[in-house]
Amino acid sequence: MIVGASLAGLRAAEALRDEGFRGPLTIIGDEPHEPYDRPPLSKQVLTGWVPADHTKLPRTRAVDADWRLGVAATGLDRANKQVLLANGDTVPYDRLLIATGTRARPWFNAAEGALDGVFTLRTCDDAALLQAALKARPGRVLIVGSGFIGSEMASVCCELGLPVTVAERAEAPLVGPLGGVIGEIAAKMQHDAGVDLRTGVSVEALEGDADGHVQRARLSDGTTLDVDVVVASLGSIRNVEWLDSAGLATGFWGVGCDAGCRAFDINGVVTDTIFVAGDIARAPHVLYEYEFLSLEHWDNAVSGAEVAAHNMVSLETTRRPHLPLPSFWSGQFGVNIKGVGVCSFGDEIVFTQGSIEDRRFAAAYGRRGRIVGAVTLDHGKWLPYYAAVIERSAPCPPPPPGYDQPKDMQPLPARFPDPRVPTEIPDVVLTGHDPTSRGAEFISKRR
Ligand code: FAD
Repeated sequence: MIVGASLAGLRAAEALRDEGFRGPLTIIGDEPHEPYDRPPLSKQVLTGWVPADHTKLPRTRAVDADWRLGVAATGLDRANKQVLLANGDTVPYDRLLIATGTRARPWFNAAEGALDGVFTLRTCDDAALLQAALKARPGRVLIVGSGFIGSEMASVCCELGLPVTVAERAEAPLVGPLGGVIGEIAAKMQHDAGVDLRTGVSVEALEGDADGHVQRARLSDGTTLDVDVVVASLGSIRNVEWLDSAGLATGFWGVGCDAGCRAFDINGVVTDTIFVAGDIARAPHVLYEYEFLSLEHWDNAVSGAEVAAHNMVSLETTRRPHLPLPSFWSGQFGVNIKGVGVCSFGDEIVFTQGSIEDRRFAAAYGRRGRIVGAVTLDHGKWLPYYAAVIERSAPCPPPPPGYDQPKDMQPLPARFPDPRVPTEIPDVVLTGHDPTSRGAEFISKRR
């Protein structure tokens, strides 16, 4: 059984059949749609180039599955090996894959979030609604949060000729995934494109008009902004609630598993029949000092699904590890951003090729003298080189790869946010001393 009928779920189903599994296969998904692709939702769908319902994932083969779409899994009974569904059904399994991914973090004030004109973006239905709102040519769009998806949406607004403000609490856009040095370059890209970029501020309140349509935003610097559309791009929440009483290692960062995609129970003991893949998985990585990584990247969902499927139907001696070298991409403001490794694991950055002024360069991230990640702007053809040196944990800066090295190859502090400073991440309170009753309770610091 696979719970979660999206990218990881579909690719795992296909891989199970490729592996020769001929038994019954059930796929449960709470969305009513067949699996579709999310990356176009913040790009081609918002510009109006691709309709939101034209994003179905291509199938690599027939999977001959019992699809239960439009019904959520609400519980997992490990003792009786069955999944409970929202419609009251229980479905038995021999092997289970958890692929329930993440959802958009909603606006922190539910009443403000319910105003007309306030959006989040995660599903194709979200994208259809937001695209319609942009097509109506609002007077001003406010995007709160400037990670990859928020920045891509700001870029689309510019492409459509819509006035757009971006409010970001950090010093610059993309600081979380790429650090402050690249953030400065991203900020220039936004300024040059005409974005009204406000950094170091948060949006404290949204106000509506008499018809319940969003009208104004109040910012932490005391300013107000008249707005017609607000998009909260505040990151994601992992869909773990249906596993609350399953006794698995679930929490804020997802479902803990080993490098073979096998879920841990709440005490960190590996299970034999429950596997995890995609955005919801959190596994240790040999290249990153065995730290547990949660990767919200398309490539990771595909490769994790394939490894999980293989291990679900393999003997112990033929199991494979899932040790992907993370890779990601983004398109914004006419620039193609691609990366490999875990840039935020580094504390230094060095520009290794190309030109910052031309916004066509490669930069490597280092930690304790070893390369751990790399990012390219319009320079993606060199990524395989960087992937190879990261996989070897080569010295940073890595040996010069090409002919267009910048004059100054001095390492700089990468300026990632200090992980010791409290963020939105909730406190974890362990409750109970009896191992059978131990649970993790999350107390959000958000308002
Ligand atoms: P998801 O796609 O989140 O799928 C999980 C599925 O499980 C969903 O359908 C969910 O509704 C369902 N589900 C949840 N709970 C339950 C339940 N209890 N019962 C049944 N079903 C349930 N990545 C990149 O690398 N590059 C990009 O450019 C990029 N752009 C993106 C743009 C957008 C707008 C978004 C939202 C994501 C983007 N990503 C990008 C990330 C990428 O799409 C994800 O990494 C990928 O979708 C993860 O796949 P998944 O199957 O693990 O999870």
